[in-house]
Amino acid sequence: MPAPPLFPTAFDQTPFLVIWETTRACALACVHCRADAIARRDPHELTTEEGFALIYQVRGLGTPPPLFVLTGGDPMRRPDLARLVRHASDQGLTVALTPSGTAAATPARLAELKDAGLSRIAVSLDGPDAASHDAFRRVRGSYDWTMRIIESAIALDLPLQINTTVSRITLPHLHAMAARMSELPITLWAVFFLVQTGRGASLDQISASECEDVLGYLYDLSLTAPFGIKTTEAPHYQRVVQQREQAREAAGLPTRAVERRRQLRATRSVGDGNGFVFVDHVGQICPSGFLPMTRGNVRTASLADVYRDDALFRMLRDAARLEGKCGACEFRTTCGGSRSRAYAATGNALGSDPLCAYEPTAYVAVPPPAPAMEPHRTPLTVPLRLVTGDQSAIDCEHTGA
Ligand code: SF4
Repeated sequence: MPAPPLFPTAFDQTPFLVIWETTRACALACVHCRADAIARRDPHELTTEEGFALIYQVRGLGTPPPLFVLTGGDPMRRPDLARLVRHASDQGLTVALTPSGTAAATPARLAELKDAGLSRIAVSLDGPDAASHDAFRRVRGSYDWTMRIIESAIALDLPLQINTTVSRITLPHLHAMAARMSELPITLWAVFFLVQTGRGASLDQISASECEDVLGYLYDLSLTAPFGIKTTEAPHYQRVVQQREQAREAAGLPTRAVERRRQLRATRSVGDGNGFVFVDHVGQICPSGFLPMTRGNVRTASLADVYRDDALFRMLRDAARLEGKCGACEFRTTCGGSRSRAYAATGNALGSDPLCAYEPTAYVAVPPPAPAMEPHRTPLTVPLRLVTGDQSAIDCEHTGA
């Protein structure tokens, strides 16, 4: 078997993943939707020609090029989708698609996309049965449509990834979901940990200690599962893996290290702006779809320049700039915490990830400020913002996506 391509361990020049939100239109109304998806296509979406231009930009990011993911909304709502896939594939990109579980993803259209060069399909399954999944997606029939997409992908021999959201609503189904995964011929189970942004802002988060249990459970599952497991917006899974593997090595037990090297995966955690860049439906460039801080637009700016040189992107890749627990953590270069969650929770993208239960040995919690001794003074009000040496370059536009 040929060796898989090697990806760089530092992501300062070339991201591992570029995600393009081709449209925000979607027939679903999922309770956690980052994009706050809408029923109709936005007339200001990137056009087909602008999509082609974006694809050239993505290919120009380096060799090997990033994985290119077409997402939404529902990308199937774009009639030019097969042309976009073919163009990206012709440029040598590995193209993945995340269709919504709707009637738009017909077997015929999926076959057309495979023929155009689609390499992988990722579908969301958030419950082990129709009742739990449809309740989360808020549309009856979504589970059946999702299963139809899965069956089509299997028939077309398209590598299949399942995305599952972990939140207070879905947590009780996690073990049943894992059992469901082993019944399906999937390549990867991508477990997404809720970031409270978009419609997800009103959803209940699990606690940090529940998250720790889930990450430990996923590690145990990874020792025997016939599919890969990755987390999204929970980079502290890397910390759990390291801790568990050290413990296994000390006990003389085999680890997962050999198995991991065989997979087409990043060699370290991919984080917001650090191995990952997001382009929204109107071309705005952000470190992540969950970190809505616009740093330019592909219509007028170079994606490579923004990713490599923008002050926010550079700061997100610099573990020495992290603050709070993450800044003091010995795992900060391999984990670094979810910058999106830190921002959603506190307004500070460099702060601690509140979903991590780990207490770094070097961390000394800052005590709450002492009561004011001079009550006649007006306290200073400090606006929430990123702390940097170049403040003018960092005051970011919040897109509200
Ligand atoms: S404290 Fe921060 S850097 Fe350390 S493991 Fe937790 S999330 Fe990662």
